[in-house]
Amino acid sequence: MRKVSIFGATGSIGQNTIDLIARDPLAYDVVALTGGANIERLAADARRLNADLAVTAYEDRLQDLRDALQGSGVEVAAGPDAITEAAARPVDWVMSAIVGAAGLAPGIEALKQGATLALANKETLVCAGALVLETARDHGARLLPVDSEHSAVFQALVGEDMGAVERVIITASGGAFRDWPLIDLARATVEQASSHPNWNMGQRITIDSASMFNKALEIIETKEFFGIDPEQIEVLVHPESIVHAMVGFHDGAVMAHMGMPDMRHAIGYALHWPERRDLPVQRLDLAKLGQLRFHDPDEARYPALKLARDVMARGGLAGAVFNAAKERALDLFIERRIGFLSMADAVAAVLDQFDSAGGLIDAPMTLDNVQQTDHLARQWIDEAVIKRAG
Ligand code: NAD
Ligand code: MG
Repeated sequence: MRKVSIFGATGSIGQNTIDLIARDPLAYDVVALTGGANIERLAADARRLNADLAVTAYEDRLQDLRDALQGSGVEVAAGPDAITEAAARPVDWVMSAIVGAAGLAPGIEALKQGATLALANKETLVCAGALVLETARDHGARLLPVDSEHSAVFQALVGEDMGAVERVIITASGGAFRDWPLIDLARATVEQASSHPNWNMGQRITIDSASMFNKALEIIETKEFFGIDPEQIEVLVHPESIVHAMVGFHDGAVMAHMGMPDMRHAIGYALHWPERRDLPVQRLDLAKLGQLRFHDPDEARYPALKLARDVMARGGLAGAVFNAAKERALDLFIERRIGFLSMADAVAAVLDQFDSAGGLIDAPMTLDNVQQTDHLARQWIDEAVIKRAG
């Protein structure tokens, strides 16, 4: 039996992971499941999968979790430190599916014990790519991509030499507003931004898809994961979300990865790697789809893409600043305190502020420095918003 833990088990990726694991209960020994406020979901899955440990991110929900798991024999714990400690429990495979920078510390802890880390949490590589890769190297741990584009690139590279790669093209659906007139974007509401044309995902990544902050994070994730130059990474809008990514080689050949938009493809690939196993996903019928469309992204519509290029050029802790500023700006948009387009403006302002502050971005990439930078970037977003309101 393979020992596995799932971080962010109650979310969209976590539930898809559980769906695959629960189909083959004799193959997996579930060690830890973690979640947030949805105690019922967490407890039900911990019982069903007979987990050793269930952890909620919220300390004030510990008693609720304890009550929900009464008599089950599942150990309970709460709080960010308890989540990180859970990542130290020996396992073979860990799903990293917490949303946001909160996924970084448990991810690093899992790598330290030498586990294979299936990485849905793209923020891990955006905030601390060099540190994460070094930790994996030092502890003989393996990172496998779960983000659909990165899984697609990873699969297109099987048997290839990185030296033969000319470019990597990641696709973007264009999100909820791809057909909106530019002038209307400033007034886009949280509800409108929270529905995705093709993928069924958590609310935060869905809104990030509408603004393309998600694609901005993914450009950086591509650079970190595959160790290629930013100039080799292209973004292509593809409304059908059938081609997830393409790899172009020096001989002009392009390998495209296709599949229906279902995250169980990428999760299943990371779960069974290096094998391919049967997965319960709908099969592709191109004749039925009829056509696939592609076009270049409009930079004016998606300022986040340009910001990602700036962040890669700056290097150091700029990724941690970018992600934290984006997370906080997104909180403020969800709380209806700033408009849709103000998110990118606020993030750009905070990146500039870090540049003027000198040195901060060039501090050594330790977990402490990343977390302090993260904290400061969130604070500066709040200050920028207050200043604008005043
Ligand atoms: P989600 O919002 O559906 O679930 C997030 C999970 O993280 C939940 O279990 C929640 O309880 C937990 N969580 C939230 N805040 C936390 C905190 N501060 N500390 C600990 N746990 C916390 O999100 P999702 O859509 O499943 O996305 C998870 C990650 O996977 C994100 O990094 C996202 O970018 C990435 N991803 C998601 C998809 C997708 O299809 N949903 C695709 C590619 C990548
Ligand atoms: Mg993706």
